[in-house]
Amino acid sequence: MDVSNMTVAYQHKKAIEEVTVSIEPGKITGIIGPNGAGKSTLLKAVIGLIKTESGEVTVSGKSLDVIRKKIAYVEQRSAIDLTFPIKVDEVVLLGTFPNLGLFRRPKKAQKEKVMECLKQVKMEDFSKRQIGNLSGGQLQRVFIARALAQEADIIFLDEPFVGIDMVSEKVIVDLLKELRNQGKTIVIVHHDLHKTREYFDNLIILNKKLVASGSVDTTFVTKNIQAAYGDSMGEIVIKGVND
Ligand code: ADP
Ligand code: MG
Repeated sequence: MDVSNMTVAYQHKKAIEEVTVSIEPGKITGIIGPNGAGKSTLLKAVIGLIKTESGEVTVSGKSLDVIRKKIAYVEQRSAIDLTFPIKVDEVVLLGTFPNLGLFRRPKKAQKEKVMECLKQVKMEDFSKRQIGNLSGGQLQRVFIARALAQEADIIFLDEPFVGIDMVSEKVIVDLLKELRNQGKTIVIVHHDLHKTREYFDNLIILNKKLVASGSVDTTFVTKNIQAAYGDSMGEIVIKGVND
């Protein structure tokens, strides 16, 4: 996936500026940067959820519209209305809709697909729960199941580890790595630097403009972290920084 010259402004104030970056297929890419750096904005602009001033996204040279069905998006948890009365299996069923066709009702095949996807994230026992009654980690797994039901090749997740316990975080990371190993492309917005080396193959380091992108080995270096996070980082030593 190639993003070129992407600029987004809210009320004439630029949130991201002229970002040109490639997302390598079959890898886990982290988008990191401080609060307000434009990480969520970049994600939403790339998948066409918000209007851009400029910018183009292509996948193997094709326009995104051609493969839109193959892209899944798991938004920030804070953006989800958890009081909305919907059950776990219904959320996952939504994932099958892009492949259903207009006016077709879900049939047995879709219902089986839902259970198969819930099994993959080890949530099959929760299929009839209201989503408002799940832990943060369980909720993330349900949304990943929805992406699987959609048969998405590219999965975008915005801050999936915020507000969840370490055990759930580990379960989700392992699951995402497993999906990567099956050939899926995973893109994760993340603001905490400590697990960078453990979680990601590649990085996009953002602070309104692109600071660096490429393999963790080449990008996760003090110079880039300081360029993105500024001197607020002070003398804090970040585990795994490559120099
Ligand atoms: P991040 O996800 O890196 O924390 P965001 O992409 O959410 O950053 O925000 C980037 C900048 O754009 C911030 O200054 C934020 O306040 C601003 N912003 C984000 N969404 C909106 C919006 N809907 N309207 C106005 N400004 C916004
Ligand atoms: Mg954000």
